[in-house]
Amino acid sequence: MKKLDGQTAIVTGAARGIGKAICEKLSGEGAFVWVTDIQKDEGEKTVQEIHESGGKADFLQLDVRDADQVISTVDLIYKSSGRIDILVNNAGISGNPAPVDLMSNEEWKDLLDIHVNGSFYCLKAAAKYMKMQNYGRIINMSSLASETSLQGFAHYAAAKYAILGLTETSAKDLASYNITVNALKPGIIRSTLTDSILAVAEERISASTPLGKIGSLEDVANAACFLASPDSRFLTGISIIVDGGFRLVNEMDKVMNEMIPSSI
Ligand code: NAP
Repeated sequence: MKKLDGQTAIVTGAARGIGKAICEKLSGEGAFVWVTDIQKDEGEKTVQEIHESGGKADFLQLDVRDADQVISTVDLIYKSSGRIDILVNNAGISGNPAPVDLMSNEEWKDLLDIHVNGSFYCLKAAAKYMKMQNYGRIINMSSLASETSLQGFAHYAAAKYAILGLTETSAKDLASYNITVNALKPGIIRSTLTDSILAVAEERISASTPLGKIGSLEDVANAACFLASPDSRFLTGISIIVDGGFRLVNEMDKVMNEMIPSSI
């Protein structure tokens, strides 16, 4: 018996990257996974790969910015699967960096639309069915950028902070229906989203990470799977940082490293 046998999961932005890895992990634990993404071809390929490894999945094209499309997609999933146990609000973009005073309104609005409005629409649509079944696990994708901010990414940091507010408030609103709402805060994880950062700073980031490497898609998927499973039943309104300790390191560590003898 696998942990998620008989359960149905929806993952947004799941054609590739972290979302895809989460789908693979959840289906490996027995869940039927609805892979949703704006990207049709890549999404269908993800489903094919899950089938090839023995998992159960299907694809629906979904742009999380479109509230009506979110409702019809979630309704369709419920009609087809008969339940919705897990929702992973993962869809996102990094946006282009710019100093805040030079950032265009369009860029700002689009990024918040995907991350914040999209997560809200999906959460609302899935909660309707989770309440009926008195069970649900909702996981929202925040980021380490909600703790440390990231220069030139005011839109991204604002969105990821907002997702924490959404997580904590909905955790309280939905708790009496046995629905938990938690967030993940990945640090720098190897994906297309971080290609350009890693191209210039991979060594520096690894060296500044206590666990000594760049995070993998699987590292985030493992944490997501825990939050999605019955094992996390007494956790709600929290966020798990998946960063190998990156957030802990500061300039003083370098000073202290030079002062502390390597053996006593
Ligand atoms: P990714 O490889 O770019 O995958 C994101 C997927 O979401 C892409 O297929 C993308 O399609 C899709 N998407 C974009 N807009 C969408 C929309 N409106 N509706 C539905 N799908 C949409 O990115 P990732 O690295 O896996 O990141 C996934 C999530 O983790 C994001 O929320 C990101 O902010 C968060 N995160 C990532 C990292 C990291 O280091 N990678 C760290 C912290 C947090 P397109 O190709 O069309 O954009």
